[in-house]
Amino acid sequence: MPTPVAPATPTPIPRPLPTNVLSQNGTTLELYFSSLAQGNTGLLHVAGQGIAGAKSSFLDSLVDFFPMPNDGFYGLISVSMEQTARTYNLDVLVWYEDGTRQTISTKVEVPIGSFIKQVVTLPPDKSYLADPEIERNELAKLESIFSTFTPQRLWDTSNFQLPIPSGELTSPFGAFRNFNSVMDTRHTGWDIRATLGQPVLASAAGTVAYTGLMDIRGNIVVINHGMGVFSTYNHFSQVHVTRGQTIAAGQVLGVVGNTGRTSGPHFHWEIAVNGNFVDAIQFMQMWKPS
Ligand SMILES: [Zn+2]
Repeated sequence: MPTPVAPATPTPIPRPLPTNVLSQNGTTLELYFSSLAQGNTGLLHVAGQGIAGAKSSFLDSLVDFFPMPNDGFYGLISVSMEQTARTYNLDVLVWYEDGTRQTISTKVEVPIGSFIKQVVTLPPDKSYLADPEIERNELAKLESIFSTFTPQRLWDTSNFQLPIPSGELTSPFGAFRNFNSVMDTRHTGWDIRATLGQPVLASAAGTVAYTGLMDIRGNIVVINHGMGVFSTYNHFSQVHVTRGQTIAAGQVLGVVGNTGRTSGPHFHWEIAVNGNFVDAIQFMQMWKPS
């Protein structure tokens, strides 16, 4: 099977037509997806006269929309890779400058994602990392980092770029993984082929939400892109940025290493939206207002 290769440099994504448009009392809600598979992100848009704000209610998450000049309000919704596949309610609450409000409701189908199975063998000095408790603790720490909601869009390009420009994807998001025949888990990001010391670039503009050493992800950089969107860059040998720093799209964050739970040097890239790890390639290729 050929190795999938994603485009190395971001080219602007043309704005697509909405897949579904609902109108209610002069306000329109547009959905830019027909269904949202496990691990996918979807874009919503509300437009009309006198709108002051909007918020979505979907899968137990309440998420604020962000304004775009003369173009209404946009919101992102996401589906965990472990969400049960079925149809769910989506409610969008819209409030107006005159103090009125209304809810526009629809349904979203969540199909099963297509995820492969993988067997990973860790070297003896890292085999202690095949431990569900270490993984739970690390996920709790990340969940806490992702729970900061910055109500502004900090990204400045319509599509995010691959952190490693060659872009050879080696291991897909969502894979069911078995480590050393002792632990089953899921792959929360994409792996990209990389060599030791290779520079790693920020996918889009934002601020550094966290840098440090984690058991599984090794030396990690987390970037907050605003509106509930975070990206993570993992297994670095060296980190070149500090917490709180403002980052431009394409800025070098550090260099590829072999720290954390690895079976060799590689680069692991994650995107989280509203607290869910999502398919970073699907997110990257989705048109986003900027
Ligand atoms: Zn990985």
